[in-house]
Amino acid sequence: MLLERFGRLLQSRGHELGLKPAQWEALRYLGRANRFSRTPSGLTAYLGSTKGTVSQTLIALEDKGLVRKKADRDDRRAVRLELTAAGRRALEADPLLELEASLDVLGRREEVALDQALTSVLAGHLERTGGRPFGLCRTCRYFEKNATDGGPHRCSLLEVKLSADDSEQICVEQEA
Ligand code: SF4
Repeated sequence: MLLERFGRLLQSRGHELGLKPAQWEALRYLGRANRFSRTPSGLTAYLGSTKGTVSQTLIALEDKGLVRKKADRDDRRAVRLELTAAGRRALEADPLLELEASLDVLGRREEVALDQALTSVLAGHLERTGGRPFGLCRTCRYFEKNATDGGPHRCSLLEVKLSADDSEQICVEQEA
């Protein structure tokens, strides 16, 4: 019930700032996802939504100039998504940041305990419902830290070099 209340407050603040909840969620995802995951299908899997709903969300964000679609360099039939400069600025005013600031009432120990508790609840929920974790790249079983032919790191699943920035992003293929 508490999570629902937080969710409602967040949505209401998000509406005041001119975007619907799904639009904020898509912007946040595109701000955190790695280049392999910034696709309509990656976003659909992350949101647990339908292709049609996500398509409407992306059209709205493109119309507002916050997101743009690009053809993939290697596969011209594939579409990649990226935030525009206006999209990145919009995220700087994300109402979620206000909520995070409210965590200041907690001490460091309480904050870590809350993070661990929510992580466990989420992991249990995903296991029961079969959802993808979308965890950080550096925590993935395919992540090779400082690989000999890396950049400096490497992904053994996709067989690509990974930068330090890549390692801190979330990925649709991530497996703990
Ligand atoms: S190492 Fe894992 S999380 Fe990182 S790019 Fe490869 S599959 Fe994705």
